[in-house]
Amino acid sequence: MKNRNVLISGASVAGPALAHWLHHYGFDPVIVERAPALRDGGYAVDFRGEAHLSILRRMGILPELEAARTGVGSMSYVNSAGKPVAKLPADLFAGDLEILRGDLARILYDATKGFTEYVFGDSVTSLAEDDHGVTVGFERGAPRRFDLVIGADGLHSNTRRLAFGPEEQFVRHLGVYCAIFTTANHLGLDHTGHAYRTAGRLAAMYSARHNAEAKAAFYFGSPELGLDRRDVVRQQALLAEHFTGNGWESDRLLDAMRYASDFYFDSVGQVRMDAWTRGRVALVGDAAYCPSSLSGMGSGLALVGAYVLAGELAAADGDHRAAFDRYQERMGAYAAGCQKMGDGVARLMVPGSRLAASFLNRYYKLMPYLPGKNMAARIARRTAENITLPDYPSLVVR
Ligand SMILES: Cc1cc2nc3c(=O)[nH]c(=O)nc-3n(C[C@H](O)[C@H](O)[C@H](O)COP(=O)(O)OP(=O)(O)OC[C@H]3O[C@@H](n4cnc5c(N)ncnc54)[C@H](O)[C@@H]3O)c2cc1C
Repeated sequence: MKNRNVLISGASVAGPALAHWLHHYGFDPVIVERAPALRDGGYAVDFRGEAHLSILRRMGILPELEAARTGVGSMSYVNSAGKPVAKLPADLFAGDLEILRGDLARILYDATKGFTEYVFGDSVTSLAEDDHGVTVGFERGAPRRFDLVIGADGLHSNTRRLAFGPEEQFVRHLGVYCAIFTTANHLGLDHTGHAYRTAGRLAAMYSARHNAEAKAAFYFGSPELGLDRRDVVRQQALLAEHFTGNGWESDRLLDAMRYASDFYFDSVGQVRMDAWTRGRVALVGDAAYCPSSLSGMGSGLALVGAYVLAGELAAADGDHRAAFDRYQERMGAYAAGCQKMGDGVARLMVPGSRLAASFLNRYYKLMPYLPGKNMAARIARRTAENITLPDYPSLVVR
């Protein structure tokens, strides 16, 4: 088989899932991750529908994921005094299987570390492609040769920048920033969450790890700010500017934020590209088709993308040209459908005016009694299932 030696940039969801399948088909994956160790943190991610579940089953990790599921049920919108004023059903958020992103990354890492070379604390700096492979330069390590390079390095993909061009060409800011971190479950939430919405802001807290702790989340509407993504001090100052004196638990959560070890801050955005592959380089997961962190589709879409990309490479006996064309063909409509789920959610989550925020709070109050109450969950499931997964043969005997 051709092109066995594959570098993957990014060790979160798409990267390790791709390594699993590449190894399964006889390729030799190496993963480089910029963080010094596996990144914990983040809020819960969802899998919904048979496509997602069947891939997890085929990977052999479904039982582990089920054991680590959050079990979080319905979520309440509260008023400034913390009194629930509206309740939203669990399936709107959680899909069939909800798991903390950090737990998912850990399970994927444990399942692949036995056959994947993981290089932490490094990042690709250059890609020089020729007819036979790619010479890859690194921030710390010596240059190495690979047959193929796959970017699984998220919304702000470094691989995409190096191989396709600057981020501004591909990332569409959806007008919202979000922050998430672990905190004490001081409200004693029992497998549930509380959210408090005001004009242009939403603060929330959800129980995690079976109530032993909680996740705090802040969302605020803003045009793109051009922040340095590594400047945590600036990010936390910005949150304080938006949420100090905002009501409910905002001030207490802002205090807790300064002690959080897993503070995560990012813009909410989508990646739109005409092509996810160029020469010997391909993108997978958020790097290629991020549907936005508010779509509830990012991890499932990354999982499907990894399955299809590896499967097409195996089916083409490692011929990247044929495989990359088929990958784009098979995934195009599916990724577009998942991205549609992300459109509009941002505006709904943090409406700009007080009038719109109060209208939405009232609508949520009535929602359990309205005929279309399960419509959003039904559309999400249909979208997640809208792909026929090929049964790729295990062509290679190692
Ligand atoms: C710490 C963290 C917290 C998150 N929290 C949430 C959340 O609360 N809710 C939500 O919906 N989504 C969250 N996400 C995003 C979510 O994981 C993805 O949308 C989805 O799972 C698709 O995964 P991905 O592997 O394609 O991208 P990501 O999960 O974004 O992973 C990209 C990986 O690439 C690494 N990376 C970045 N740059 C480089 C580089 N130059 N070299 C090497 N590696 C690099 C990152 O450190 C990361 O490990 C989070 C991601 C991370 C990394």
